[in-house]
Amino acid sequence: MKIGVLALQGAVAEHIRSIELAGAEGVAIKKREELQDIQGLIIPGGESTTIGKLMRKYDFMDAIRQFAAEGKPVFGTCAGLIVLAKTIEGQEESHLALMDMTVARNAFGRQRESFETDLDIKGIDEPIRAVFIRAPLISSVGEQVDVLSSYNGEIVAARQGHLLASSFHPELTDDYRLHQYFVDMVKSSHAS
Ligand code: GLN
Repeated sequence: MKIGVLALQGAVAEHIRSIELAGAEGVAIKKREELQDIQGLIIPGGESTTIGKLMRKYDFMDAIRQFAAEGKPVFGTCAGLIVLAKTIEGQEESHLALMDMTVARNAFGRQRESFETDLDIKGIDEPIRAVFIRAPLISSVGEQVDVLSSYNGEIVAARQGHLLASSFHPELTDDYRLHQYFVDMVKSSHAS
């Protein structure tokens, strides 16, 4: 089973490493045609405005919407979460608008620009070490969206069917259980 990491900007190699630790093959996706070879896609962190621009420039928008419409799982981390969201606070334009949620960018303020914490995540047994870097939070979710984790009362991980999103960077620690969770989502979508 192959899982792609959108390689326009961000921590691509780290995601590939975590995918491989979780027992799947990880590949960098630089061209839209390459989406045909994979069963799941991760959109990494970085800067969502830049990723959005590059996705438009390289014709990824409709291609990824089509990929998701075929039931293939997509996982957005940090800026990737922003790219997945239907609504971005303070911005007129969203990007893929696949997940029914509103997000706030850079939501933790200056003092808490970057921090780490242990988070409980629904569906994963023990807490996960989560690295936040100028992270967004999910300010509201639609009915179809399942909240998987909150931090100080704010939503930081969610799932809508075959779509998964986290405010933090699961690829920056050795703990690959959230990648394992996504690999399992891809396995079950593949089987069905
Ligand atoms: N602050 C970035 C944004 O708003 C996201 C940061 C990240 O991906 N680590 O796009």
